[in-house]
Amino acid sequence: MKKMISLLCFIVVVIITTAPPPSSSSSSNGDLQNSSRVKLVDDYILRVANDVGFGDWMKNIRREIHEYPEVGFEETRTSSVIRRELEKMSIAYRWPVASTGVVATIGSALPPFVALRADMDALPIQELVEWEHKSKIDGKMHACGHDAHVAMLLGAAKILKQLENQLQGTVVLIFQPAEERGEGAKEMIKEGVVENVEAIFGLHLVVSSDSGVVVTRPGEFLAGCGCFKALIHAKTASSNPILAVSASIISLQHIVSREADPLDTPVVSVAMVDGGSHDDTLNVIPESVSIAGTFRAFSKKTFYALGQRIQEVIKAQAGVYGCWCVVDLEGNEYPSVPPTVNDKRIYEHVIQVSNAIVGKDNTQTTQPFMGSEDFAFYLEKIPGALAFLGMRNAKAGLVHSPHSPYYSVDEQVLPTGSALHATFAYTYLFNHFNQSLLTI
Ligand SMILES: [Zn+2]
Ligand SMILES: [Zn+2]
Repeated sequence: MKKMISLLCFIVVVIITTAPPPSSSSSSNGDLQNSSRVKLVDDYILRVANDVGFGDWMKNIRREIHEYPEVGFEETRTSSVIRRELEKMSIAYRWPVASTGVVATIGSALPPFVALRADMDALPIQELVEWEHKSKIDGKMHACGHDAHVAMLLGAAKILKQLENQLQGTVVLIFQPAEERGEGAKEMIKEGVVENVEAIFGLHLVVSSDSGVVVTRPGEFLAGCGCFKALIHAKTASSNPILAVSASIISLQHIVSREADPLDTPVVSVAMVDGGSHDDTLNVIPESVSIAGTFRAFSKKTFYALGQRIQEVIKAQAGVYGCWCVVDLEGNEYPSVPPTVNDKRIYEHVIQVSNAIVGKDNTQTTQPFMGSEDFAFYLEKIPGALAFLGMRNAKAGLVHSPHSPYYSVDEQVLPTGSALHATFAYTYLFNHFNQSLLTI
């Protein structure tokens, strides 16, 4: 009998810990307060995410992708792992989107639509971390955590699938190629992935914050990163494009020091000059010289004005020295990424969800970062917010910055990432539904 009771207890515990909370319409009293209902779902999502088996499953996916890194628009193997896992979960998806992208949907298949995004690409870097799951591809490595981003979004898919009959709308899961090239998001948008989508959320792992800390900001969060490349060519035999280039470089520095608002903190850097003889011939003036560089700014206004001004300055200086020039600001080789500007309402949502999932002490509003992210392109189309999830673990030596050959991820944060993603979407749809009831 004693045994029977303990067996019964076990069954009850299993049911309690694995079954999703009842939907509001089917709840026993039918009048669960919204806040307590959200709390119930938050708790359920945390319970699922904290399950050891769930964490191990995510770790294995991340490691499988880590072993076979693929750079922008070559993520065929990575997207096949994503599709395999989605099929196992009976989640519908569209593929290929923008070459290698995958777009899955969970929910009612009706509006409103809310999107969650993960990037999938690796970098052309030789991994120098010696571990069991080191990259098996020479010269390529997941050194920005996008392997972990994919695992976190698949984790969110698993959680949301279990809550599918309670979703008051549809969650769109965007697995995007080529973030590092600054082109993936643009291509996905061209394929219509955010058409009819009301809000979008993105997460990026960072080592600048401790593991499990969420960091974000309303408004201007990350800088826009633009590139310019100019070819300056002599108009006559007496013109010297080296002089035109020299004057351009000096004048470009004045844009920041004399023209820009010092509180706006833009940056203009000339990083390449190419011209003249490469074999010690010192008495031949080259017909043409190229210069190239980058510029960064936090506000969209300053960013676009900066690009315009760089063009004007180089063209004017070329004219002064009897040269013509072509300035390229949108080359395929050097794509520009606009500033990442978080929508204030969606930012508030991120803060509320983070408070519930990682706690108030681990939710921070930060200063802007100089880095850039092609998530910015989605934010140019629809409201949304990008947040960072810290994964610095000094004890385990996980402190190396992204794009370092020693970069490594604290896999303990993967379930937290999934829980955040899932709750961003679930709660957004839940709040939307309740607000629409209020306005009827
Ligand atoms: Zn990166
Ligand atoms: Zn990245």
